Amino acid sequence: MKILIVEDDQGISSFLVKGLRSEGYQTMAVGDVASAKLVVTGPDAEIDLVLLDLGLPDAAGSTLLSLMRERGDTTPVIVLTARGEVSDKVAGLNAGANDYVAKPFAFEELLARIRATLRTVDQPSTTELVHGDLRFDLLSKMATRNGRRIELAQREWALLELFLRHPGQVLSRTQILSAVWDYSFDPGSNVVDVYVGYLRRKLDEPGSPSLIQTVRGAGYRFVES
Ligand code: CA
Repeated sequence: MKILIVEDDQGISSFLVKGLRSEGYQTMAVGDVASAKLVVTGPDAEIDLVLLDLGLPDAAGSTLLSLMRERGDTTPVIVLTARGEVSDKVAGLNAGANDYVAKPFAFEELLARIRATLRTVDQPSTTELVHGDLRFDLLSKMATRNGRRIELAQREWALLELFLRHPGQVLSRTQILSAVWDYSFDPGSNVVDVYVGYLRRKLDEPGSPSLIQTVRGAGYRFVES
């Protein structure tokens, strides 16, 4: 998950970069609309979410948002607005923002909004996720590999769905915990490792490398068979 931060206040910007990185997000920070435009219109943008300050030195933040939406770019945008500026909020939402957070904000609140926004845009548009010879039906929660049916318990299919939606991406234990267990587990527990183990036993084929790679010190990555 890569988050673009568009904020000219150095203090807020570095606070966001630090906080989001510690939560396992990749970040990119710019301080004006011109630089942000280069990022979002670049060929390798791959931005999953934008945090957008409205008061920027070269132009209003909302111009970036309008540009993105005119281009058909549906990347979710959370607007950071100065305290109580209702007109900012309305302008932001009208321009196509997914949410707004008033400054000053608590980092935990922003984090909750980011997660909620990413969940909303992550809704299934298809009923089946296919990756190589592995298929997962989102309605029946049934997986098959090379036609072999794989019965999955609830946390197992939730975990598999998460991996299939982020192929090739390293997911930290914290990211997995928050997505599959909603933090109802102690972050220090080894429940993620245990369930990755269950999933590997069900999905992997004898003699072939595991579909779920362990990335030392970082987490897990789903790879194509
Ligand atoms: Ca500002």
